[in-house]
Amino acid sequence: MRAVVFEQFQQFPVLKEVERPVPAAGEVLLRVAGAGACHSDVSVYREFTAEHPGNIQPSFVLGHETAGWVEELGPGVTGVEPGSAHLVYGPTGCGRCRQCVQGRENYCENAATNPALAIGLGRDGGMAEYVCVPARNLVPLGEADPVAAAPLADAALTPYHAVRLAESSLSGGGKTALVIGLGGLGQIAVQILTALTGAAIIATDLKPEAMEQAEARGAVTVPGGEGQAERIRELTGGHGVDAVFDFVGAAPTVELARSVAGIGGTVVIVGIAGGTVEWNFYTAAYESALMSTYWGSIADLHEVAAMYRAGQIVPDVETFTLDEAPEAYRRLEAGELSARAVVVPHG
Ligand code: NAD
Ligand code: ZN
Repeated sequence: MRAVVFEQFQQFPVLKEVERPVPAAGEVLLRVAGAGACHSDVSVYREFTAEHPGNIQPSFVLGHETAGWVEELGPGVTGVEPGSAHLVYGPTGCGRCRQCVQGRENYCENAATNPALAIGLGRDGGMAEYVCVPARNLVPLGEADPVAAAPLADAALTPYHAVRLAESSLSGGGKTALVIGLGGLGQIAVQILTALTGAAIIATDLKPEAMEQAEARGAVTVPGGEGQAERIRELTGGHGVDAVFDFVGAAPTVELARSVAGIGGTVVIVGIAGGTVEWNFYTAAYESALMSTYWGSIADLHEVAAMYRAGQIVPDVETFTLDEAPEAYRRLEAGELSARAVVVPHG
């Protein structure tokens, strides 16, 4: 079968012929419906090195945002209907630690010694005709379209979890949320905030077309540049923002987050650009909280799937064939996409 393989650190992935995998005990083989290209993949193949924590050593098939149909059951797997459509919960933890037993395999305490971080991050992922996944990582989609669903596994799961983290800051009425970075994750964050909170949504991006998309979803946008923080504060009636979601995480965006967060506000850094910010008694609003987050729990993904089936999350998707997958990554890196790139291997 054909697959998009991450062969070496700091090297662009390669489309090549590989063996079709055989499901091990407890696994199922999925016929891939769609596999999303996430900006984290770009960091993995451009910036990461062998010293990076968590087991993501090449070579492996990319694709940590996958949906597909059950093709074959591995030994010992029962109760999964062949042909049924599922989302893949990516993280593969030890299954036994304090985090894993709560379905939070994204925070597995044994990540350092696990054989792989996740499906598509250290073990073969969904950018291929077929992928093997542990049966316990399947989240059923029912009759919902599995192609447009692929981004749910990360581009919706991660902002969903982030919004839940900031829920207490956003409840109570008259609250404001700020979304920084309106790409794959940010556009879905706007939808999740709309569905789950009554907060007014302010949004910003470097790209005018990304801001137009967010406006169409009900956000008020404020372009970057001189006076941006002041303009955002004005929109909050001077209170400051109650919850900031930074889907970039670079120095200027975390600084913007700090400068606009209000008393008791929550700042959630999702983007992995590694920017730092000075956060102390004098620089941060009283009782404001600064946190990072990584992916979400499998319970969160079940809820995300329910929101998709209810029409509350509608990912913007541009589909690519497997042959076009390298082009999808090229355009993602160049900032030329205005929807999540989803690779559809069986067109
Ligand atoms: P994307 O490329 O689809 O979108 C990024 C958006 O940010 C683009 O629209 C871009 O124009 C905008 N942007 C870039 N710099 C900006 C700036 N200085 N100010 C305002 N906007 C800016 O990326 P994505 O797939 O949505 O991922 C977003 C980030 O989240 C990446 O850093 C990715 O690695 C990270 N990520 C984190 C997690 C997690 O669990 N924490 C999970 C998935 C992705
Ligand atoms: Zn664990």
